[in-house]
Amino acid sequence: MLSCEVTLSKSALVQNISLYRKLIGEHTKFTAVIKSNAYGHGLKEMATLAIEAGADLLGVNSLEEAELIRQNHPNVIILVMGSIPKIESRKQLLADSNLWVMVSRLEEAIFLQSISPSPKIHLKLDTGMSRLGQTQKDWKGIAHSLKEKGIELAGLATHFASTEDFTEHSFSMKQLNRFFEGVQIFKEAGYSNLILHCASSASAMLFPEARLNLVRVGISMYGLWPSLETKLSLSLMGKNIETLKPVLSWKTQIQHIQSLETGTYIGYGSTFKTTYPTKLAVIPVGYYEGLDRKLSNTGYMLVNGERARILGRICMNMTMIEITHIPNVNIGDEVIILGTSGNESISADDHASWTNTINYEVVTRILDKFPRTVID
Ligand SMILES: *Cc1c(COP(=O)(O)O)cnc(C)c1O
Repeated sequence: MLSCEVTLSKSALVQNISLYRKLIGEHTKFTAVIKSNAYGHGLKEMATLAIEAGADLLGVNSLEEAELIRQNHPNVIILVMGSIPKIESRKQLLADSNLWVMVSRLEEAIFLQSISPSPKIHLKLDTGMSRLGQTQKDWKGIAHSLKEKGIELAGLATHFASTEDFTEHSFSMKQLNRFFEGVQIFKEAGYSNLILHCASSASAMLFPEARLNLVRVGISMYGLWPSLETKLSLSLMGKNIETLKPVLSWKTQIQHIQSLETGTYIGYGSTFKTTYPTKLAVIPVGYYEGLDRKLSNTGYMLVNGERARILGRICMNMTMIEITHIPNVNIGDEVIILGTSGNESISADDHASWTNTINYEVVTRILDKFPRTVID
């Protein structure tokens, strides 16, 4: 028996992508961002599903991720958004004109152009994130250097720093205006017809003017909101709060059941002591499998449509949950870690609020080695 199972709802994915398709129209391309094992959903499975659901491109962080996708999808356009290793042994992988690579520096562009066939070069402009990309003061210089070296530039990109964090968006607007200044500089240097892109889930949803030639959507495609502020922003703007449907469910089974007397300690560190006769179920999932240890004595799971709270500390490969109040529970019964059971559901947002993080981290840390099964 596998310790747990991750299932993917194709119909949820189709619904989430269709929602963006309706927003962005037919002239803007949809990039399904599937970096980091598709935010824990499974890289290969999500690559296929996203293409079937109508994604135009696939977005990844690394060349290694691109390589894994390429085996099954020889012609799809893959956008590599992270850094690329500038080493000879990777040249073979980079010789691919359907590979679009975001670069920050002149030497990266020169390296890519030296490969035949060369991947498409997209230059990143830093407009306020202070991560990758050329700093604003250097834009003119690099535009001229690229032209001088005969570099074929395919696109310009930037990334918003804080659209998800606020309902007040002047910083994002400042970034967008800086980006347009950059586009103008490259135009004057002789680069026109560039593919322009800057929007991720939140900015693609909130700012029509940021959708440009393509959007790069990750978290919302998986049916999760980038943040509560994104939802609030929509409502403050008088726009529809769209329905996103979570794609992923995470399940396991009860491995062992115990009946404990009043005054019994549970788990490492004896952090929980029963105050009444307590029925306990043990499940074979712990922090190794991707369950945050901060859920100890805090989070809940679902058994037969009822909430079962986590008692004691989460172990490396096991967790104890209370089933005192749930009738007819047996070994082998299904336990929902993330998903729905009866009228109850537990979301990545619940886990995020219980552990003081973001839903992105909750799903991304689910261990990659369980099978991802497509269910509908
Ligand atoms: C991860 C990433 C995205 C997707 O962001 P979401 O908020 O998940 O939609 C878009 N662009 C870049 C550059 C990224 O690194």
